[in-house]
Amino acid sequence: MDLAAVDDSDKHCIFLVAEVCPLGCGKRIMGKKMEVHCKSECLKRREVCPHGCGESVFAREMPDHLKICPMGKIFQRADSAVALLSLGELNDAVKDIYGARGEIRQRLAAWGHVPIKGGWGSEESADKIKRILRSQIEIQTKVRAKSEDQLLQILAKLKWKKLCKHDKTCVEVFRFLDPDESGQVSSSEWGVLHQLWKELELSILEFLQYIDRTFASNFLMAWEELDDDRSGEIDFEEFTDAIHFIGYFGEGTPIFNYACDKKGYITETGWKKLMDFWKDRANVRNMIFDTQSAFH
Ligand SMILES: [Zn+2]
Ligand SMILES: [Zn+2]
Repeated sequence: MDLAAVDDSDKHCIFLVAEVCPLGCGKRIMGKKMEVHCKSECLKRREVCPHGCGESVFAREMPDHLKICPMGKIFQRADSAVALLSLGELNDAVKDIYGARGEIRQRLAAWGHVPIKGGWGSEESADKIKRILRSQIEIQTKVRAKSEDQLLQILAKLKWKKLCKHDKTCVEVFRFLDPDESGQVSSSEWGVLHQLWKELELSILEFLQYIDRTFASNFLMAWEELDDDRSGEIDFEEFTDAIHFIGYFGEGTPIFNYACDKKGYITETGWKKLMDFWKDRANVRNMIFDTQSAFH
């Protein structure tokens, strides 16, 4: 008989005696079965909470723990916020999840455990959190698209046609007004937007009035004067120099931004846009006062 072919464990089996369960359930277990007993059978075995709160409880008490687990409660709130597409509540739940990491670490430490990567208390909870964060991004995107849509509708209603043509600018202004990305802008924030636009229109009118007076309503002559090098395009620096040269010291930046193209130049097209604005000045003034009343 080839001795090397004999299984080692078979040889040792004869010498095994039953041992007392180290977890203290009082059972006597034979050899290798002890491992299985301690892991999944012993009534005194403890399990780490799958919600990742960091607690270890007797396995038979786990169902009761899960009912009161603090992380479980936060996850419930997150789940219902996702179901209701409620971004504000979801943001709160996510904040609480991250805020719980200190307590998770403490509870784990009490049982001699350490957090897993990310600071979480269990693999299951880490996966769950990943899913919640993914939902948060999805809802954020949805809410943002919806509120930007509403924003454009409101602008159309308020007859801010010029602003509607610049919907990218609108969206930027909206993001500026909505720093917490809740997708909601309060009425006072709307007031800020209105004020900004009103100031922009007024500064454009003021500038054009100056041009009208200085060049005796000859906007073509003014263009030639401003486009000093006859290149057909004026960049920001050239524009600032030029308006100072003709004696205008009001705010030039909003006018430049209004008239310039995507590459950052005022061309004849942009200048024509300003001329149209001037021709439409009576309307513009009316709109400024109309929209003012729309907020009260
Ligand atoms: Zn046991
Ligand atoms: Zn728990």
